[in-house]
Amino acid sequence: MRAWRAAILRFADDGSALYEPDGLLVAGPDAQGRQVIRAVGAYATLAPDYAGVTIEHLPGRIIAPGFIDLHIHFPQVDVIGSPAAGLLPWLDNYTFPHESRFADEAHGRELATFFLDELQRHGVTTALAFATSHPSSVNALMSESQRRGLRMIAGKVLQDQHSPDGVRDATGQSLVDTEALIRRWHGVDRLGYAITPRFVPTSSQAQLRGAGELARQYGDVWIQSHVAENLDEVKWVRQLFPDARSYLAVYEQFGLLRDRAIYAHCIHFDDHDRELMRATGAAAAVSPTSNLFLGSGFFDYEGAQRIGFKHGLASDVGGGTSFSPFHTMLAAYYVGREGQTKPGITLSPANLWWQHTAGAAQALGLEGVVGNLQPGCEADFIVINPSATPLLARKTQQAASLDELLFSLIVLGDDRAIERVHIAGAGAT
Ligand SMILES: [Zn+2]
Repeated sequence: MRAWRAAILRFADDGSALYEPDGLLVAGPDAQGRQVIRAVGAYATLAPDYAGVTIEHLPGRIIAPGFIDLHIHFPQVDVIGSPAAGLLPWLDNYTFPHESRFADEAHGRELATFFLDELQRHGVTTALAFATSHPSSVNALMSESQRRGLRMIAGKVLQDQHSPDGVRDATGQSLVDTEALIRRWHGVDRLGYAITPRFVPTSSQAQLRGAGELARQYGDVWIQSHVAENLDEVKWVRQLFPDARSYLAVYEQFGLLRDRAIYAHCIHFDDHDRELMRATGAAAAVSPTSNLFLGSGFFDYEGAQRIGFKHGLASDVGGGTSFSPFHTMLAAYYVGREGQTKPGITLSPANLWWQHTAGAAQALGLEGVVGNLQPGCEADFIVINPSATPLLARKTQQAASLDELLFSLIVLGDDRAIERVHIAGAGAT
């Protein structure tokens, strides 16, 4: 067993933040040999019970759960910051050309290493990631994640129509490849597979039907896709499926809404769509920096909370502009406040943080596994230095409440504040 003494941030089951200014976190193997949190609480209370355990003291530091990114495209590292007039030209001019390079397996391996380095540098310890339509891109990301002991979920993109040469796949083969990848990777060490139709317009009905059948057959596999991001895209889907009640309803029609189904964006929804999310157990990956960058719209937090469907935060790199969970949480705050196109609400700092940790875990069906530091959770955690920059130090020292402390970090923090990342499977990095 190992133990760390520092301030500790974690979350109660109701999503409220728990903060121990002088805490102790104890990690060690469980009965299955997984590195988990064995105990957490006030140092003064717990320390006598762990007298034989070496305790590392981290004065002035905050231990917090590793962040979870609910939606990110691993092949789009080089697409970040590409100028375009909205989603559809951005896909055509940047995303598809870059993704076509993943036919070369060596390119996938090189990018997987860079991508995971970048996630970890920013304190992200779990992600739900799109690969490309090339199966080897999944193998590259999974192999490198396995080597690092990460809890990572990814899938091969399904896109058999309305896609250029180089990224378009063939309907039958794409489903054969998906099933082979599920069998190879899902549940191996800490890895999980996600069935990954890119979005409705780029999949034929046969491909969507096949994806739905796999989702039924492999009930604990994840599903990831995009929905209702951009008005031109919504219009396109209406032309393709004129009889569907809504864009989201198309996914329902093909059996692609259920627990462990995560849909990026969910912006242009009505209350029927929100009810459908809640009733099916599907979750939204809110991607605010991407939505602001591409001018797609604003996620309606009031609607999500009122109807009560699961949602959490995501970077959506390369449409998103940063790997940093701090930047994403700040953008989510802006999006919540926007009150011209939907009701504007003020998201609390603790809620923003929860959406990127324990709330994101709940959206994935992984509550109690990752995203929190309760006993039994896998020991993925970060060490934050709240004095990492002069302004951050000045501001956090003046914090008179937990909300003030967390909000200072959200507004002023970036990768410089992430001092260390501990991964359960692979020890400290
Ligand atoms: Zn995306």
